[in-house]
Amino acid sequence: MGRVAGKVAIVTGGAMGIGQACAELLAAEGAAVAVTDRESDAGGKVVDALVARGHRAIFLEHDVSLENRWQSVVDGVVKTYGKLDILVNNAGVGWFGDVEHTTIEDWHKLMGVNLDGVFLGIKHAIPAMRASGGGSIVNLSSIEGLVGDPGLAAYNASKGAVRLLTKSAALYCARGGMKIRVNSVHPGYIWTPMVRHALEASGNAAEMQRAIEALHPVGHLGEPNDIAYGVLYLASDESTFVTGSELVIDGGYTAQ
Ligand code: NAP
Repeated sequence: MGRVAGKVAIVTGGAMGIGQACAELLAAEGAAVAVTDRESDAGGKVVDALVARGHRAIFLEHDVSLENRWQSVVDGVVKTYGKLDILVNNAGVGWFGDVEHTTIEDWHKLMGVNLDGVFLGIKHAIPAMRASGGGSIVNLSSIEGLVGDPGLAAYNASKGAVRLLTKSAALYCARGGMKIRVNSVHPGYIWTPMVRHALEASGNAAEMQRAIEALHPVGHLGEPNDIAYGVLYLASDESTFVTGSELVIDGGYTAQ
């Protein structure tokens, strides 16, 4: 209890999956949490449950690919809670598509969320965190930002870019004397709505699930909290010497 007590956090894409788990764990460990998402019904329910448990939380409707929404989300959080300490750039989309058959429209759509969204989040969080005396930005990349997959061209490209954007921003903040740390997290396959929908879309969900499980040496998919505990560590003051790093939480997927 209290590992991020007194801190103020934004978690994007916090209505479900990994983002929801991060929002719930940060709140349970003492942070005031702004859950943002384009899914206002589901996001509102996450916040209602947090408030019912006595935590400080608000929901803000937010499409991370739109710069003007970032400005008002950061302003709204600072107005409500007085500062910003933690940003979890979690919102993301993913679908299968190889490099030959991915349309330019699908490419831009995915990049708009997975890469533009993270860029805009970092860009708009820095001034608010600087004014708060420092902070921690955690970007959700993926194992797909570390190794290639023939069927995930745009997703691979977006998550690889998030990995290096994280290092550029970490260096910018550290060399600029700001006490703002920036790190990336690289999950293996985690059982969330994103993965469930991708399996359903494959037309052979059960067989596909077994094949994906077999890629993880531990023999199963991860759970959202497996990632949330890593995010909590990077968000907290336990990791004050950690910046520009990659936290891989993947059941051994990339160890092979
Ligand atoms: P998820 O179950 O699909 O949840 C993601 C949430 O983000 C959804 O509520 C989604 O809303 C929202 N979102 C999507 N686009 C948005 C936008 N433009 N603005 C604001 N919110 C938006 O996904 P997840 O599996 O928890 O994944 C979370 C993050 O971890 C993503 O960045 C993903 O790439 C990464 N990741 C996931 C896995 C995995 O196996 N699950 C592995 C590695 C990395 P909609 O429902 O409307 O799209």
